[in-house]
Amino acid sequence: MKASTKATAERITKKATKRVTKRIDSTWEKELQGLILEWYEKHAREFMWREYADSQKHFIPQPYLVLLSEVMLQQTQTSRIQEKLPEFYRTFPSIERLSQATNAEIIKAWEGLGYNSRALRLRDCAKAVVERFSGVIPSEYEELLSLPGIGTYTASALVAFAFHKDIAIVDVNIRRVYSRISSQLDTTADAMPEADCTAFAERIYPRGKASAWHQAVMDIGALFCTARAPKCSLCPLQGMCASAHQLREVERVKKQEPTFEGKPNRIWRGRIVQILRGVEASEWYSGEQLYNQLFSASLFTTTPREQWLLEILRTLEREAIVEIQPDNRQRASQMIEHNRAQTPFSEDTSGKDALQAASFLTPLPQKDDSVFSLVLRLAS
Ligand code: SF4
Repeated sequence: MKASTKATAERITKKATKRVTKRIDSTWEKELQGLILEWYEKHAREFMWREYADSQKHFIPQPYLVLLSEVMLQQTQTSRIQEKLPEFYRTFPSIERLSQATNAEIIKAWEGLGYNSRALRLRDCAKAVVERFSGVIPSEYEELLSLPGIGTYTASALVAFAFHKDIAIVDVNIRRVYSRISSQLDTTADAMPEADCTAFAERIYPRGKASAWHQAVMDIGALFCTARAPKCSLCPLQGMCASAHQLREVERVKKQEPTFEGKPNRIWRGRIVQILRGVEASEWYSGEQLYNQLFSASLFTTTPREQWLLEILRTLEREAIVEIQPDNRQRASQMIEHNRAQTPFSEDTSGKDALQAASFLTPLPQKDDSVFSLVLRLAS
């Protein structure tokens, strides 16, 4: 193929895919590493879980705090964690104390952080660290991965941030920045294929500086290279980025999630747990009260609401977030009514005889299929 024809063909290909890969070689890599680490020296965000030892900002790793923050960061915004972590840390100042927390205790302390099952997994992780590693958080990736609630990202984040060992980390922020700097993308929704990103991540991080490097890329992803509206004109990487000032903003397709009466079930679950946080450990909350709290604006009950609420409660029970029992007081009074109707000889108005006679009579039908026949509280 003649040179000019080849150039035309390349142009056409580039236009068709609209994706130009940046020329990445060791010079480019070194320049990028220098730029990012230098920026981080001056502008790193300061968090409770990033404690500094000296004016050069050399980290003192605190594995327990890193573990708490990383589990919290899985689905909650950084600003919320900054607010909540100090209080949580005061309540559970050590991994031993955390390992002893009851379900109700940790769910109460988790208030405002969402996705309560994460709190239970964190406690289970603490238990495993105490039982299997004598209370010392392991520093090896495979050992970390063997702990409950620790996935590949959290394990690698702990290896790098808590123990300053070399490892490549990829999370959603890092993938976004890597995708954009290395290829000219069209829209804010585009990203490089996962396998390419893994290979790039492994190659690009400066050995011996995995902690600072990944924290820096995450900061740049959070401050400038945001998902919806990247701030390229402020970004320290704009001179080296293949996608700088090129990205067309597009609406992301929102993930479908189950809803009821226009609200995601996730929000309803949060409200239920929030109501139960106010219940003392020795007390029970009735299903009827809960129903009335949730649907306070309504004057009537509906079967779909009852059935839906019962389903949500049963799921929370399976996840060990909520404990449910039949409402015994209600069952006792139902039993009295039921047996009175079947014991014409009884004149006892207290219902005592009826209760005594109950053992000889047809058992009261189970009514656990109604939310009104239950009492509940946070799981102990
Ligand atoms: S220049 Fe723009 S697209 Fe590139 S990394 Fe910075 S914010 Fe992201």
